[in-house]
Amino acid sequence: MKAAAVPESALFPGRSAHPACQPWDLCSTMVYGPVRTRRLGRSLGINLLPSSDKWCTLNCVYCQLGWSRHDRADLDRGGVRFPPIDDLRTELAARLRGLTGKDALPESITFSGNGEPTLHPEFPRAVEVVRMLRDAYAPKASIGILTNGTTLLSPETRAACDRCDERYVKCDAGEPRKMKAVNLPLVPFTIAHLIEGSRLLRDHVVQAMFVSGRPGNADPSSVAAWIRVVERMGPKRVQIYTLARVPAARTLEAVPADRLHEIARRCEEATGLPTEVYDTLPAAVRQ
Ligand code: SF4
Repeated sequence: MKAAAVPESALFPGRSAHPACQPWDLCSTMVYGPVRTRRLGRSLGINLLPSSDKWCTLNCVYCQLGWSRHDRADLDRGGVRFPPIDDLRTELAARLRGLTGKDALPESITFSGNGEPTLHPEFPRAVEVVRMLRDAYAPKASIGILTNGTTLLSPETRAACDRCDERYVKCDAGEPRKMKAVNLPLVPFTIAHLIEGSRLLRDHVVQAMFVSGRPGNADPSSVAAWIRVVERMGPKRVQIYTLARVPAARTLEAVPADRLHEIARRCEEATGLPTEVYDTLPAAVRQ
């Protein structure tokens, strides 16, 4: 694998510079948790990516998984060994069978993990497997997909996302330069693609990470542009949050809670969309 286009000087050298953030490791299994999450309650995570590394079409500066060690060519070649969906069926059935009692069962089952879940070539089949097992063992659990939106122009991917109960689409910036600076796409991807793909979904929730420092996206001009794009994406609601885990870029800092609430207020005033703030982090939170 070639290294991604991130200068060595920007690599995060350790975790002491972010004492308020929790470290986070790659998922070593296809099913993890349940873990208490900020946004999804007690959630069982589904990881469709390899356990050896992060696999994503973006390389967000705040990523809790660190910098990508692959580049665009790796993704285009399809040279990634994705775990078999039959293994997911076995793992998830065993995990759900082991969770007995209403307090043990998950409130949600969420596609997340070591990167962009929709990259798995059998993502639609994975959704059907999770639906079947959810219905059998945890019928009250909501199935969610966390996506960065880069694959939503694929009708097959959108159809599979629409088979989930909830779709959470990332949007951190409303200007092309800011999006490139914050999300560092490894594939051709524009804000217009994000808007078009999102609008074709059954419905969705926008999720946004706000950070201070370099490159920050919480300044008034960045927020104003972000609000305009969020409105065009047409979500049913918006969730915003800030750093809670050690970020890839050491130049980043968390946004103060009062600034997050100010951003949420501006978003609600401008768009009429309910905008929730997640500014605290329980001890065992994972997503
Ligand atoms: S989309 Fe998620 S997994 Fe991918 S780089 Fe960004 S934060 Fe990391």
